[in-house]
Amino acid sequence: MQDFTYHSHNFSQGITDGKNTCDEMLSKAEEIGFSEIGVSNHFIYHPNIPHDHAMYFNDFDKALDYAKRDIEQTREVASRHKIKVYAGFEVDFFPSKMWRNAFEKMLKEVKPDYVIGSTHSGFNKDETVFRNVWFLGQEAQKDEITKECLRNHWQNIIDCINSGYFAFIAHFDLASNLGVCVESEWNEWKWKVVEAFKQTKTPFEVNTNGIRRCGIPSPDWWIVKELVKADVPTLISDDAHNVDCLGQYFAEAESKLSEFGCKNRFRF
Ligand SMILES: [Zn+2]
Ligand SMILES: [Zn+2]
Repeated sequence: MQDFTYHSHNFSQGITDGKNTCDEMLSKAEEIGFSEIGVSNHFIYHPNIPHDHAMYFNDFDKALDYAKRDIEQTREVASRHKIKVYAGFEVDFFPSKMWRNAFEKMLKEVKPDYVIGSTHSGFNKDETVFRNVWFLGQEAQKDEITKECLRNHWQNIIDCINSGYFAFIAHFDLASNLGVCVESEWNEWKWKVVEAFKQTKTPFEVNTNGIRRCGIPSPDWWIVKELVKADVPTLISDDAHNVDCLGQYFAEAESKLSEFGCKNRFRF
């Protein structure tokens, strides 16, 4: 069974959304017999993104400062533990040149060990209107501006895959996992994303946090099966935000992957 996760969160600097400290997360990972762990607090920066949470940054200097401290903290705590630790980020990707320049500056200055590609929102073409998929009710999704943001949300995942920045892509159908874009009209977008993975062979995670949330991982099993069939590399992620979620549902995910005949497993 996979004995590591590269997608985990902690409570960093009073800003991020993990429930335990980095030290507590690493201790628990050692206790359950993990051989290594990736620490991937969020890096969410965009000058126009709504400040839905302290970890959503509009100010690049503040985002950079947070990112530096986060990686420093991870490495400092790791030095006091036996387990092999990778210091990374789960990054919200945006397609504009402006964002890419800022992101590349962060990579150059902070030098994380790896970055995970992710998106938690949809936005309009010029990246001025945002819709966070976490907070979208069924009614809100019918609004035309929101629909445009959601179409761009799926296109953004394709751009994120094609960008080549990321070690692997996180929970790419998070929207449907949260009850957003579940109508059949969205299926063609899901297939376009599957196609992008097949073309680029970019690794994808099976995010077991979805199983805890709604009984289905992200991506959904039918997509996992499709990508495994195309030999796209995969790994299991618990996306743990507290110590109890480390390694959660790994046995279930392993058994599905072996049922699908998965041979191509990603690891550092
Ligand atoms: Zn996420
Ligand atoms: Zn995450």
